[in-house]
Amino acid sequence: MLGAGIVGTSIALHLAKRGLSVALIDRGAPGEGTSFGNAGIIEGNTVFPPAFPSNFGDIVRIALKQSPVVNYHLAHLPWVASWLLAFRAASRPGRLIETAQLMRPLFAHAVSEHEVLVAEAGAQRYLNRHGWLKLYRTEAAFATLAPEFELAASFGIENVPLGRDEALALEPSLGAVFRRAVHWTGAVSVNNPLALTCAYAARFTALRGLMFRGDARTLHRTASRWRVETASGPVDAADAIVALGPWAADLLRSLGIRLPLAVKRGYHRHYRPSGNASLSRPVLDAENGYVLAPMEQGVRITTGAEFAARDAASTPVQIDRLLPTARALFPLGEAVDAKPWLGARPCFPDSRPVISAAPGQQGLWLAVGHAHWGLTLGPATGRLIAEMITGATPFCDPKPYAADRFAA
Ligand SMILES: Cc1cc2nc3c(=O)[nH]c(=O)nc-3n(C[C@H](O)[C@H](O)[C@H](O)COP(=O)(O)OP(=O)(O)OC[C@H]3O[C@@H](n4cnc5c(N)ncnc54)[C@H](O)[C@@H]3O)c2cc1C
Repeated sequence: MLGAGIVGTSIALHLAKRGLSVALIDRGAPGEGTSFGNAGIIEGNTVFPPAFPSNFGDIVRIALKQSPVVNYHLAHLPWVASWLLAFRAASRPGRLIETAQLMRPLFAHAVSEHEVLVAEAGAQRYLNRHGWLKLYRTEAAFATLAPEFELAASFGIENVPLGRDEALALEPSLGAVFRRAVHWTGAVSVNNPLALTCAYAARFTALRGLMFRGDARTLHRTASRWRVETASGPVDAADAIVALGPWAADLLRSLGIRLPLAVKRGYHRHYRPSGNASLSRPVLDAENGYVLAPMEQGVRITTGAEFAARDAASTPVQIDRLLPTARALFPLGEAVDAKPWLGARPCFPDSRPVISAAPGQQGLWLAVGHAHWGLTLGPATGRLIAEMITGATPFCDPKPYAADRFAA
């Protein structure tokens, strides 16, 4: 198992639970990659993925770097242009409905699969079952939700539309700067994503799973098996699974596997609440594209997407743009961290992950591209891959997540 983020650790745990002999290999400690810094929301309620903006004004604001929702590095745009065109094509209303339907089986199992692993790992203290709240500053923004409500109802996803006062009754420390809210009651959140991955990793080792430090890029075929070099020597296996998040392409390219994986970078920073202000659940400021999430470290502000090379220098301008707006919504005090954290969401243009056998490579499996929902979908992905590898009946049809959809 290559990569010990929430996705790889969940897969390793699922395989160990089924009695397989599993080595979990990472160049660092579990959960310290992208899985370290998310907003902590297990978004089983997800209907539509984030879409390419269709409103001309929004596009102009982004182009002029005035939008808090998206930032970009100009020099990176030629590298990501074909991905952006594919993303825009996948953002047409009909395609968004199709994506929502294809992703529903995974999202429908997101919370229940976490609940199973959380119970086994004794990690209940990290879960918050108060749902999450999306806030809308204008009636016009709220009115755009009609198709989402309709599809959510057909999927059986619970939500409660609220007026401002009702939302303030749930979260009294919020400022009255919004008009409408939606409480997605079935979502669960995590107050320390790193600790959750570490708890799953500890459960994995308790089941006799082995953890190694090593570079996944050393993966190669021997006569009939896969081999990776680790600090403890070579590790051989009949099956190898790649869950390297935004770093997956570094390995896959050398194996001749080319997939349209781009990154949407994102930042977070923690702030102490002023006075005795508090937040009971994550809150999205929809028009401004950021989340405030209560964490053990403080209130974590997380940003929307930045289109830039994965390894380019950090440019956390979105946090600077957002802070005055965020402070009007919630009384953020002093920053806890010396500087913002930067991560990179691994994304395919159709907003679906790849959870499948690797094309043309026997015994190689892929679990990459979980985009905005890697925390949400880690355990469901773990179960699906484990069922496919052991020849069990998968809990859902894995075809929509196959890598060969990009071959055409
Ligand atoms: C700001 C932000 C907010 C987010 N909010 C949410 C949210 O609220 N809910 C949600 O569900 N998702 C959220 N996400 C997305 C989520 O965090 C990711 O989808 C998820 O963490 C991806 O997990 P992963 O295991 O695939 O990748 P990673 O966590 O990045 O794990 C990959 C692992 O591979 C290892 N690795 C890389 N290269 C090598 C190598 N050569 N050799 C060995 N090991 C290697 C890394 O060390 C790392 O441990 C958010 C993301 C961001 C950036």
